[in-house]
Amino acid sequence: MHPRRQYECMLNLLCQVCREPASENEDGVLFFDWRTKRSPATWPERSLSKMPPLCEPCAVRSLAECPHLVSEPTFVALRTPDPRAWGAYGCFYQPLRGGRWYCHPGDAWVKYGDMRLHGLIAAAMVVELTDVTRVNVEELAA
Ligand SMILES: [Zn+2]
Repeated sequence: MHPRRQYECMLNLLCQVCREPASENEDGVLFFDWRTKRSPATWPERSLSKMPPLCEPCAVRSLAECPHLVSEPTFVALRTPDPRAWGAYGCFYQPLRGGRWYCHPGDAWVKYGDMRLHGLIAAAMVVELTDVTRVNVEELAA
């Protein structure tokens, strides 16, 4: 996903597919998430996500056209009432002597307020998913 579009969708809670307002009900805004090696023990609670939310029609279409979503054992659809801006994801550069820079290998997830943000070329805004409610995908598609 293009970084500008990702940021626009995440910041304004727009659907990552169609850019219309994401689905929201009394349980919150609709997101997809997967458990990763970075996931907290409380997953999906307090999961960090760089995947913007979705509207219901695009979520249903994604589930139908991308069957590996639901076959992935750690896939979950969820709602969160308060997706909190957490930080940024990207490539971390460290200044070296002589005006040179060292690009750290691997992905960097840097929390807002962390001084390392000054050396980050951000590719995505990251939100923390809290107070989550799991969504039954069969009900979503109904
Ligand atoms: Zn959509």
